Amino acid sequence: MSNESQYDTLISWLETNYPNEPEYHQAVREIVKDILPVYHVHDEYKQHNVVTRLCVPERIIQFSIFWQNDNNEVEVHQGWRVQHCGLIGPYKGGLRFHPTVNTSILKFLAFEQTFKNALTGLPMGGAKGGSNFNPKGRSDAEIMRFCQAFMMELHRHIGPNTDVPAGDINVGNREIGYLYGAYRRLENRFEGAITGKHLEFGGSHVRTEATGFGLIYMLQCVLDTHEDSMAAKRIVISGAGNVALHAALKATELEGKVITLSNSRGYYFNENGLSQDMIQWAIANKKSEDNVLCALADNYGGEWISDKTPWNVKTDIALPCATQNELDGEDAKALLNNGCQYVLEGANMPCTDDAQRAFAEAQIPYVPGKASNAGGVALSGLEMSQNAKFRRSSFDKLDQSLKDIMQSIHEQCVEEGQDSGWINYSRGANIAAFRRLATAMVAQGV
Ligand code: NDP
Repeated sequence: MSNESQYDTLISWLETNYPNEPEYHQAVREIVKDILPVYHVHDEYKQHNVVTRLCVPERIIQFSIFWQNDNNEVEVHQGWRVQHCGLIGPYKGGLRFHPTVNTSILKFLAFEQTFKNALTGLPMGGAKGGSNFNPKGRSDAEIMRFCQAFMMELHRHIGPNTDVPAGDINVGNREIGYLYGAYRRLENRFEGAITGKHLEFGGSHVRTEATGFGLIYMLQCVLDTHEDSMAAKRIVISGAGNVALHAALKATELEGKVITLSNSRGYYFNENGLSQDMIQWAIANKKSEDNVLCALADNYGGEWISDKTPWNVKTDIALPCATQNELDGEDAKALLNNGCQYVLEGANMPCTDDAQRAFAEAQIPYVPGKASNAGGVALSGLEMSQNAKFRRSSFDKLDQSLKDIMQSIHEQCVEEGQDSGWINYSRGANIAAFRRLATAMVAQGV
């Protein structure tokens, strides 16, 4: 069968068997188009049906969460854990609490996570989970009770050698603390079953910063390869959460000029570039302020622009760090028309198919999230090994390991992504990860 007909057959099989899951189908399409040519020249891959097997999750756990809010009302939410692939290590991936969470979103995230984790070179399988619970506007006590009720079910499916969740959107340090506290009491075990923990109980230095810092270390590798540098480059960042703010912090430290941040209500613009102090202030106040970016404009100057995204701002570099499908084909054209030369994803799948096509046609370096935001899970992997040894490494040592891992991912993308003088980072990442997973699958048998 040719690549094209195999592609069509697989996608229509997925659409028939798993209908109404557009994000999942989108993620599969993006990866499968790149890996089929490699699959076709390896008889053992075909014999083991590796592509189809890699596309479907090994297990999906779905459960109901009953918990009591501050008005003594009992609320009901849905929880999930998608354990996509355990071939190369315990299942590993974050938990997301957001009203948009559903099976399709989690299946896409778990699938992408599997390839991302393979790129890090560490022993981690791929998973993702979460709930359709919206934590916005909830009291601290409600968040705690919700996390405890969520763990009441999840604890039986996780463990340091089974499945190790971490944070994701709306699951930060506080939620991880409550989730871990519940796990420890339910299991009566102190062990590395969750990453992103506080330093006081098994957490790792650099974990909080890792995704954003790693993104900028990847940007440095890309710039070096293109004989370019960060100094005075205009950088547009979307999002104002963990990934966006730590990327902004590291970029400004390396003399880049970060001119925007954003959230679901609009964006913040500062022509002079944000200072380290401003970003540190936003990190410290993002939980307590209703809209930290509005407050940033009030306290430090700059503009708050409601109901708009930052993609029309003139820039050299764009780093989408908020959420999936936040940058579409029109946004990509606007960025290219405004001189954007590099796009690196901090979020998972923030660029739509159309946007990715536009960057590929313009042949600018475009690095997909599975490569450029892998720093977070890489540090989680290092947290797991510190937990297993009951020893903590220093900040500097872990920061250096993060740089090394990002550099290694960059090298894999360059090696596998050569395309007539242009580096197709997306294809490079997909193929490099696929080779590791397919080899493991064949070696382990059916
Ligand atoms: P946070 O919850 O810390 O922040 C998310 C940010 O994105 C908030 O500023 C939020 O704004 C904004 N946002 C959410 N939805 C939208 C939207 N529809 N339009 C515009 N802005 C939006 O999450 P993280 O920073 O941790 O994660 C961001 C992305 O990075 C996600 O795709 C996540 O999967 C990915 N990622 C995160 C990792 C990590 O270590 N944290 C690791 C690898 C990937 P608001 O407050 O208004 O909702």
